[in-house]
Amino acid sequence: MTGKRRRYGRAWKRIRDRYAAKHPNCERCGAPTEEIHHITPLCEGGGYDDTNLMALCRRCHKWIHERAKDCQYLASLIPGLDAEPELKEELLKDAKELEEKFLKGEG
Ligand SMILES: [Zn+2]
Ligand SMILES: [Zn+2]
Repeated sequence: MTGKRRRYGRAWKRIRDRYAAKHPNCERCGAPTEEIHHITPLCEGGGYDDTNLMALCRRCHKWIHERAKDCQYLASLIPGLDAEPELKEELLKDAKELEEKFLKGEG
């Protein structure tokens, strides 16, 4: 994993600190920024520009990475559900409710 270590070197720390200074609060819940997230991972071609970064608290960051797995799973199910629009709608509604609960600290 030397490649990974190199990519997250001193330059990244500088970019991260600069971004965190511009975004002192979590972009999801408003708590103080603790970590900076890449919206599109570097390994998938994401960059270091502000549009690909997100300021997050530790809790939201963890949640996003957990949800990313769920979302991939959901997305893999949804194309197969075009024939069942009601079920598809329900699934999306569930996901939204879970997210809202989380943001209120109930999740
Ligand atoms: Zn947060
Ligand atoms: Zn992240």
